[in-house]
Amino acid sequence: RERAREILESDARRGSNRLGVEAMELLDAYGIPTPQGDVVSSPVEAEAIAEEIGDDVVMKIVSPDILHKSDIGGVEVAVPVEEVRDTYEDLVVRARNYQEDATILGVQVQEMVDLDNGVETILGMNRDPQFGPLLLFGLGGIFVEVLEDNTVSVAPVSETEAEGMLDDIDSAPLLRGARGRDPVDEATLVETIQRLSQLVTDFPAIVELDINPLVARPDGVQAVDLRLTLD
Ligand code: ADP
Ligand code: MG
Repeated sequence: RERAREILESDARRGSNRLGVEAMELLDAYGIPTPQGDVVSSPVEAEAIAEEIGDDVVMKIVSPDILHKSDIGGVEVAVPVEEVRDTYEDLVVRARNYQEDATILGVQVQEMVDLDNGVETILGMNRDPQFGPLLLFGLGGIFVEVLEDNTVSVAPVSETEAEGMLDDIDSAPLLRGARGRDPVDEATLVETIQRLSQLVTDFPAIVELDINPLVARPDGVQAVDLRLTLD
């Protein structure tokens, strides 16, 4: 919790109340699994991170002015190490084309998460003036707007309530191994909902938060993207 406070304070000092993947450590601090990776501010550093990861990587532009990174070509998946430096430059150029004076914090270099054996879910929070923090869980990724399959619960949630959120969505069978898929690690998913519940309960300054996608897999979960707003 102390670590989370430090992260939030140092990010707030940068002057924006909108944070993105650069605040991923906040999730780490609460035991929510995130892919290996880091945000860097030069092509050479990006290459070094990719070498550390030792495989193809995902690269994302990091800017408080860019909400939907993939909409502006700000996400490149499956980038081989030898293309990391050029990709860094490409991402920055695309961001500048989108908004010339955008604040660019750098580029995130991230381990690839296997989506074939996973389900992209969304786990979020919206602070309601009447009800307090409302947790939202549902189907994520590209399906989020199309299917609108989600459920809401007031934080903090108990283990039973978190389990209930899983039961609530229409796509629950997808998580539980429909059509010969391996069922996802439900225990870790429930634990992750509770951990986020704890985070937003501990920090009233977080008014809005979205992990989209939270990839649920048979061997655990991975928070691949993060966006949050501080008051
Ligand atoms: P944004 O939502 O701002 O466009 P995301 O970080 O969510 O950016 O990336 C967009 C999509 O790219 C994700 O929904 C996911 O399908 C894919 N993606 C992002 N990061 C990874 C990763 N580490 N491994 C595999 N796929 C990824
Ligand atoms: Mg996203």
